[in-house]
Amino acid sequence: MNTFEQIAERERQYLLQTYNRYPVVLTRGKGVFLYDIDEKRYLDFVSGLGVNALGHAHPRIVKAIREQAAKLVHVSNLYYHEYQGPLAEKLCRLSGLNRAFFSNSGTEAIEGSIKLARLAGHRAGGEAKSRLVALEGSYHGRTFGALSLTGQDKHRKGFEPLLEDVTFVKQNDLDGLRAAVNDNTCAIVLEPIFGEGGIYECSVKFLQECRTLADRHKVALIFDEIQCGLGRTGTIFAFQSFGVTPDIVAIAKPIAAGLPLGAFIAKEEFATAISPGQHGTTFGGGPLACRVALEFLAIVEEEKLLENVNKVGAYLQQELKGLVEKKAAAIGVRGRGFIQGIQLEIPARPIVDAALAEGVLFNSTQDTVVRFLPPFLMEEKHIDKGIRVLKKLLGKKRKAA
Ligand SMILES: *Cc1c(COP(=O)(O)O)cnc(C)c1O
Repeated sequence: MNTFEQIAERERQYLLQTYNRYPVVLTRGKGVFLYDIDEKRYLDFVSGLGVNALGHAHPRIVKAIREQAAKLVHVSNLYYHEYQGPLAEKLCRLSGLNRAFFSNSGTEAIEGSIKLARLAGHRAGGEAKSRLVALEGSYHGRTFGALSLTGQDKHRKGFEPLLEDVTFVKQNDLDGLRAAVNDNTCAIVLEPIFGEGGIYECSVKFLQECRTLADRHKVALIFDEIQCGLGRTGTIFAFQSFGVTPDIVAIAKPIAAGLPLGAFIAKEEFATAISPGQHGTTFGGGPLACRVALEFLAIVEEEKLLENVNKVGAYLQQELKGLVEKKAAAIGVRGRGFIQGIQLEIPARPIVDAALAEGVLFNSTQDTVVRFLPPFLMEEKHIDKGIRVLKKLLGKKRKAA
């Protein structure tokens, strides 16, 4: 049998050292719980970074994977299969947009989105219409295109030169936005709620100004909803929570309940800029992933999980605000639904490490933020358990003013 030490040691020796893992080997999950190699149980507020929105081993997902694995796992995009069209139709109906492309990851969905925006830009305004506008503090992925849009030095450092044609604007800076967007802009790319960036929301005013400028200058407004989309804000697309519709939306994390799948969905006027042969993928949109994604969307609807996200998300926010009132180390709460963060005045990682020992998985981001991305199934009693552990770990009481 492998012990934790043997498993960690083998990785230290043979894996490219890119991850700073928490000291636990997870072997199985059930609902909102995970279990390690010693069968210790953990309450999961991370959901595989927003992927396992249905928790773990959801019976309907297990069944769909079993059945489809025995029938057809992969066919090339040279051929049709039964599930890509229906999934595209479903996503178009839910978003109000017109055409989808399926990738294997979020990053690839961003890459495809900006390639489409370049084609549309060149068609509308010639070669010069190729500039991109993105936000400081954002996160869009690790490939060169997505990294070029990611407004954080810590991710970019060492990999330059990146795409040169990107202008960064501060989130919610209306004047900065107006100064950055012009007729040479082909796309504005943004997360309506920063995920990895620390759970910061774009204001409705800012998003509306993006929409206005995009229309005025024939720019593709691209929302990266890879983390905040598909139900996490309490609406199926985050943009529906903000009331501003993008031209292209990129999604991924929860869509196939843990199988790798991403997508971008575009309005017709942008979608028509691309022709057969100009973009593609070997694995993206295969029958297994697409069938499971259809099942994911059906479960969210039939189990009324958005209602749960709204209700329990409000409860989570109320409880986090309670912590801010009581604890000197906690200074603010951001986000909504099942994408929230608590801002600490102290490093978050030691809190997360200590919570792990207590049997609760949290995630820290941007050094001082504890991020909550629970499965959509989470109930108030689970929130209570998480809050109890945080309360214990956050230490000193706030002194009365
Ligand atoms: C995770 C994430 C990505 C990258 O997705 P991958 O599947 O890791 O390639 C891009 N944008 C946002 C907002 C994300 O949260």
